[in-house]
Amino acid sequence: MELKDLKSTWIHSFPQPLIIAGPCSAESEVQMLETARRMKESGADIPVFRAGIWKPRTKPNGFEGVGTIGLGWLKKVKKQYGFKTAIEVANLHHVTEALEADVDILWIGARSTVNPFTVQEIAEALKNTDKIVLVKNPVNPDLALWIGALERLLAQNITNLGVIHRGFSTYQKTKYRNIPNWQMALDFKNQFPNIPMIIDPSHICGNRTGLAGIAQEALNMGYEGIMIETHHDPDQAWSDAYQQITPEVLAELIRNLQIRNTDISEFDGEMGRHRTLISDLDFQLIELLSQRMKISEKIGALKKSNNLAIFQPERWKVITEYAAQKATETNMSPEFIEKVFKAIHEESIEVQNNVMIKKD
Ligand code: PEP
Ligand code: MN
Repeated sequence: MELKDLKSTWIHSFPQPLIIAGPCSAESEVQMLETARRMKESGADIPVFRAGIWKPRTKPNGFEGVGTIGLGWLKKVKKQYGFKTAIEVANLHHVTEALEADVDILWIGARSTVNPFTVQEIAEALKNTDKIVLVKNPVNPDLALWIGALERLLAQNITNLGVIHRGFSTYQKTKYRNIPNWQMALDFKNQFPNIPMIIDPSHICGNRTGLAGIAQEALNMGYEGIMIETHHDPDQAWSDAYQQITPEVLAELIRNLQIRNTDISEFDGEMGRHRTLISDLDFQLIELLSQRMKISEKIGALKKSNNLAIFQPERWKVITEYAAQKATETNMSPEFIEKVFKAIHEESIEVQNNVMIKKD
């Protein structure tokens, strides 16, 4: 079977949206049970509890996860509070231990998805499993690599698949820890509408304040689930402390989510995705126009100091010609683009005029 023919129905056995929450890392039995208890008590009665057992850390000599002992704590969480469980697996050993401990959902982390050898090893170790396997996006925005990982799993007859969008790493400092790439995630969704898509706002934001916004934005676009890091005492967490939230904050976040009507989800999800993309593009258009006007001001100042007329017909001709050509190339009507550019040009002249008439 090809990936595009795969119909993942496992998501329907969970309430929509599927919420997976729990600490970045399992640290102690007390931490795990306390987090689970408070999630239940605060109303964050979600179906799946996550915890990292082996942690891929950027630098050596840090906390690299408690290892196998944590699987026992996870079992207790499941027994006492009824959550299903989810962990990250990154090699054959992890898979063997996870299957032995009967963990319900396994996910492949962003640092593993980039490595075809690792993914192949995990896929072979999981051959024929009916466990749910989620694949985080690779750290770099490479859609083919993300899809390739799913194909490797499918080739081993693993069919309960889903993906997690956790953002992409970047050298630049941005407001995100890992920048979301909605376009790429939506390309994925368009190609594989039957593979559930989950958002991980924790690793996208890297802080606590942006989580609700990202989660809602994803739901608006038709994502089917949210994975979010939750810790009974986030400030003291041994990993990802800045982005973890308390069970009570999680409960509040879930209460405030606007859940989209699933009856018309196909229409609604597609519509939501398109609208969010349109809004993003509109913001970019406005930002670009503002940059353009700032340059016009500079040109106005230059024209003023050189005593040049504002309107330069040859320049306007060049602009309209390349705009019309670009319009045709991009399948837009040249008349429409001409109208848009006339409006921009008018405003640009106005801006330059203001510079001219301003007394120094
Ligand atoms: C995690 O979920 O704790 C984790 C390590 O995530 P990622 O693979 O997205 O970095
Ligand atoms: Mn984490």
